[in-house]
Amino acid sequence: LVLTSQPPIKTDVLIIGAGPVGLFQVFELGLLGLSAHLVDPLPRPGGQCTELYADKPIYDIPALPVCTGQELIERLLTQIKPFNAPFHGGQLVTQLEVLEADPDPKAPRFRVRTQSGLLFEVGAVVLACGVGAFLPRPLAAAGIEAWLQRGVFYGSIQDQIPLALPHRIWIVGGGEAAVSEALLSVDALSEALKNKLPSASEPPEVTLIHRRESLDAPVELIERFRQALSPTPSRDAPQVRLRFLQGQITSFLRPTEDDEMATGHPERALGQMPIQWVDALANTHTDPADLVSVNLGLSPQLGPLGEWGLEMRKKQIPVNTEDFSTSLPGVFAVGDVNTYSGKKKLILSGFHEATLAAYGIAKWVWGTDKIPFEYTTASPRLQARLGVGVKT
Ligand SMILES: Cc1cc2nc3c(=O)[nH]c(=O)nc-3n(C[C@H](O)[C@H](O)[C@H](O)COP(=O)(O)OP(=O)(O)OC[C@H]3O[C@@H](n4cnc5c(N)ncnc54)[C@H](O)[C@@H]3O)c2cc1C
Repeated sequence: LVLTSQPPIKTDVLIIGAGPVGLFQVFELGLLGLSAHLVDPLPRPGGQCTELYADKPIYDIPALPVCTGQELIERLLTQIKPFNAPFHGGQLVTQLEVLEADPDPKAPRFRVRTQSGLLFEVGAVVLACGVGAFLPRPLAAAGIEAWLQRGVFYGSIQDQIPLALPHRIWIVGGGEAAVSEALLSVDALSEALKNKLPSASEPPEVTLIHRRESLDAPVELIERFRQALSPTPSRDAPQVRLRFLQGQITSFLRPTEDDEMATGHPERALGQMPIQWVDALANTHTDPADLVSVNLGLSPQLGPLGEWGLEMRKKQIPVNTEDFSTSLPGVFAVGDVNTYSGKKKLILSGFHEATLAAYGIAKWVWGTDKIPFEYTTASPRLQARLGVGVKT
């Protein structure tokens, strides 16, 4: 079931991608008086800066001798605050529809949908999609499709645990997210045990499975994990067992009819979800699981962008460098996603692109070539939009 936002969200411009360039696009549009919304499949803005190098230093942002990826994003968020551009996280844009020409110049020109059903009607679209949408790296295991969103989830399963009351949780991955998910699952099941749930002769079990022998997580987290692997025995109550396996899940066996019936009833334990996994010595095992959380990190995927009728060159979008317009009138592309002669994938280049794109977008949305050019230092109109009053 795909829910659709009713009525559609209307705004001048939809910016697809909330990396540094998408964020700065809000600023340049806002200065010209255009409203914008931002969408991104990630839960927070930042793109590559926050996903790939949040703690690492950047040295080539003009007038900022050094800042981390995270700090740059925080500064951009502060800078665009006056324009109140809503950020819609967890939203992968999947459809872009060109609307029929309307004599009313204010009529929307595009209808845009996200995978989760948000619907936008906008005058122009900016593709600030970078190297693609950061989506969970898939687990290559046969038969996984039949269990997705039923027993197998990408990312956290903490909201599923109270519903499914699982006995056997499997966590896949060896990074920080996987290790903390394993510890959180132990805590959640321990809490359920205190309340005499789930009821079974065997105490519940959490298994972390990773293809390597070592884990890649902060030292303190690994230490907590190590302690939880061999907890102090308790006489009073059964305890949740935590296991670490070196190996790989290779297949999920078919759901039984009972499992089919459980679809749509997440409050019922799914029961048998037989998984096959191979250990470090290449021996195959079959074990039951109730809930599986896959945490193999994020990887950028171009996704549906290639299906929107835009001219593409080697997975990138050629643009006119005068205004960063694409082959589809009203659609503009800035930042790492575009290509042109001499292109450099640098944040400062993206900022320049967003500036010229804003003028091109204003012309497109307002249907006029007369876009005033003003300095923030001197223009009371721009200062009013920024919410600052400068004494002369
Ligand atoms: C390790 C590393 C170090 C770097 N160091 C520097 C440096 O020192 N200086 C420098 O200038 N540059 C540096 N870069 C490059 C810089 O990070 C990129 O040029 C910059 O992030 C591009 O910004 P962007 O906004 O175009 O794209 P991104 O940062 O990639 O953001 C794009 C966003 O679009 C979203 N998106 C994609 N598809 C969709 C869709 N269909 N629907 C909704 N949202 C979507 C993505 O989830 C993502 O959040 C570095 C890059 C890396 C990997």
